[in-house]
Amino acid sequence: MSKLVIVGSCAFDAIETPFGKTDKIIGGASPYIGLAAAQFDNVDPAIVAVVGDDFPQEYLDFLAERGINTDGIEVVKGGKTFFWSGKYHNDMNSRDTLATELNVLGDFSPKVPASHKEAPIVMLGNLQPQVQLSVIKQMDVKPKLVILDTMNFWMDIALDELKTTLKKVDVITINDEEARQLSGEYSLVTAAKKIHEMGPKYVVIKKGEHGALIFEGDKMFFAPALPLSDVFDPTGAGDTFAGGFAGYIAQAGDTSFETMKTALIYGSCLASFTVEKFGTERLQSVTPEEIKERLHQFKQLVQFDININD
Ligand code: AMP
Repeated sequence: MSKLVIVGSCAFDAIETPFGKTDKIIGGASPYIGLAAAQFDNVDPAIVAVVGDDFPQEYLDFLAERGINTDGIEVVKGGKTFFWSGKYHNDMNSRDTLATELNVLGDFSPKVPASHKEAPIVMLGNLQPQVQLSVIKQMDVKPKLVILDTMNFWMDIALDELKTTLKKVDVITINDEEARQLSGEYSLVTAAKKIHEMGPKYVVIKKGEHGALIFEGDKMFFAPALPLSDVFDPTGAGDTFAGGFAGYIAQAGDTSFETMKTALIYGSCLASFTVEKFGTERLQSVTPEEIKERLHQFKQLVQFDININD
């Protein structure tokens, strides 16, 4: 089994899309990442997170039933779980954050379970950059690959800390707008180059319904997103993508650019399920057969023959 450490928020989300509205449902980066990574057979994922005692035990049990180690999920007595609320615009590609209540996440001091301190792959979900760094420091053996996801919120309020953490990171996953904000560059190619200089050898830029790019030095690769007839709620798509990406690399056991390319496709494939229903609902029910079928659709989408006569 290939061990994978996942750190990230565990949350209550209230989401509004043009198709409907939810009350507080289970969300946060780590459940999406964990559920996506748990799709890979020989991967042993552990979530490191914090919740209040308002977080339902059944949901923790559900994650454990999926083969996710939950020993690192701390339950704070009398504490309130992190709450996030967002509203999507009609294009479903952009959203406004209506509320971010850190609650117990504000004092989160992650503890990597002893069973996972030698894990080769570490997936740092979107969180305070200092907290992400503290997870890297707890590893007993230097991981083969540290992947970090972040967002504009941390660039706005903790840019210096983010830059410090990035020095210890191999792969960063961010969306196009955030790549521009972090680098100060409009061109994503130039942005990726500048971000390489901050530490990460690989830069993954997510472009929502327009797919994702990965850069390593002068090499680049593009994975499309599958055009879907039903996009219901994009929340968690980025985290699911990260979980699929990290899960595939953990399963493959190597960190070559070729492996990363396939990982990008797996990430896009799993994310395409998440957006079909509210929250983690679709990811909870997806089957290996459905994933296989969708991988075929991805292949068909981009495969073509062309005769180029030089
Ligand atoms: P995504 O749609 O992939 O960007 O992720 C959405 C998830 O991120 C939601 O379930 C939120 O609970 C979580 N989230 C939103 N803002 C933050 C934040 N500042 N820190 C940690 N997690 C967050």
